[in-house]
Amino acid sequence: MTAKLRETMRMGKLWKLGLAGLLAASAFGWAQSGEHRGPTAGPKSGGGELRVYFVDVEGGQSTLFVMPSGESLLVDTGSPDARNPNAPRDASRIAAMCKLAGVTKIDNLLITHYHSDHVGGLPQLVGMIPVGRFIDHGPNRETADVQGGASTIAGYNAYQKVLADSHADHLTVKPGDVLPVKGMKVEVVSGDGEVIAKPLAAGGEPNPACAASPLKDAENTENDRSLGLVITFGRTRILDMGDLTWNKERGLMCPVNKLGKFDVYVVSHHGLINSGSPALVDAIAPRVAIEDNGPHKGGAPSTYVTIEGSSRLQDLWQLHTAEVPDAKNVADARIANLPATPSSPDAGNYLKLTVRTDGTLTVMNSRTGASVEYPTK
Ligand SMILES: [Zn+2]
Repeated sequence: MTAKLRETMRMGKLWKLGLAGLLAASAFGWAQSGEHRGPTAGPKSGGGELRVYFVDVEGGQSTLFVMPSGESLLVDTGSPDARNPNAPRDASRIAAMCKLAGVTKIDNLLITHYHSDHVGGLPQLVGMIPVGRFIDHGPNRETADVQGGASTIAGYNAYQKVLADSHADHLTVKPGDVLPVKGMKVEVVSGDGEVIAKPLAAGGEPNPACAASPLKDAENTENDRSLGLVITFGRTRILDMGDLTWNKERGLMCPVNKLGKFDVYVVSHHGLINSGSPALVDAIAPRVAIEDNGPHKGGAPSTYVTIEGSSRLQDLWQLHTAEVPDAKNVADARIANLPATPSSPDAGNYLKLTVRTDGTLTVMNSRTGASVEYPTK
């Protein structure tokens, strides 16, 4: 590894103060000073960098992109929290992340699909921060007879109520569309069970990894309908497919890799075994992979082996130590949340990716405050 360790303790300490502490810190001006202009300065002063925050929603997804202009895109909202209506876990963490990032309004809130670990936090989140535009793949098609179907329908209905009550824009997108955001290009490559018909400009090569990815049993759930996003910023390409399933990946990757290679892979489906096939991971050949896993959700050993074995990988990062049977984990330094203990409960630490226009990537672990830089190859 050529990555260079660099201490950035301040941000990690700030996060540990929590939201209340953060507000106090802002009042004292801490959050407006120091080396790290990105996450603490106002939304108009991103310094030409793309900032991406991976919020810990305990095995769901919530990823906040902040473009240099300050325009924001939040992908998914974690889970609902009926036990704590006044301080719901995931919505509170996302709102605190926005605050830390200098985001006072979520300009674009994209829901990859309607499972509760993605759309569930939305009704509580919209009570905390305004949203400019909602983006999704269209109607829910999951029925009550599949496992978890009832909760999917409930999550979708709650989202529909937010849409009906909101004055925000609502956009439904399909494969081939480009999101109307400025500052980075976001191409939709999958949605509502369909994928792009033709390769992107960066794709089109035959994919020899297809043979190692035989079809699995079909799911026929909302996972299959996830919006998949190809994000281009400068020379950097980021892939986020939500929970798109193994079989649907084949439509994008076999026999021809329609997507091309990537610098950053937001690990599909929390690292569960029914996504992240070798056909996908070997062909996209990411330099850095970041996994939205929980202690007992995702982070499958086979996913670890596939990612660690891909040809250009410099580092895999995890939001949690996987505590699943036969777990395989990266070094603690690249894990945001270690196993919770009575004296050290889960703190909801996040990972932050910074992308410079020259292609340099930096990943910061808020638990340690340390960053690793990945220079352009
Ligand atoms: Zn999920």
